Amino acid sequence: MKYCQGPLCHTYDTKDRKRGPKGNKVNQTRRRSSFYYLQGNACSMQCQADWFDTYGTRALDYFGRITQPIVLQENNAWRKNYRWGYGDNEDRHYFYNICTGEERPLTESQFNDNNYTLNTGE
Ligand SMILES: [Zn+2]
Repeated sequence: MKYCQGPLCHTYDTKDRKRGPKGNKVNQTRRRSSFYYLQGNACSMQCQADWFDTYGTRALDYFGRITQPIVLQENNAWRKNYRWGYGDNEDRHYFYNICTGEERPLTESQFNDNNYTLNTGE
């Protein structure tokens, strides 16, 4: 069991967050064996958003900001693409280069092969 990491989780008023005897009730952070949000660390989208609002900037500073543009180059810009409404033996499957706009035909088996690529590196 683990606690939701949302810093405001305890402030949302639901029955399952209430603890304690009558006359001495408190609301507390949710505790579950698993969560869906924040990579398994928050109980709701709200708690995920609260976490980011509180810690997001610090997390970016800690892990390192992008300070230069990340560049996609021709040698790594090939994407598989597919045309609807084409017959089996026409150029239905093809590589498309996002940078140059160039197209190269593909067979269907090449299209379905996740290891088949024209990309040559970062
Ligand atoms: Zn929560």
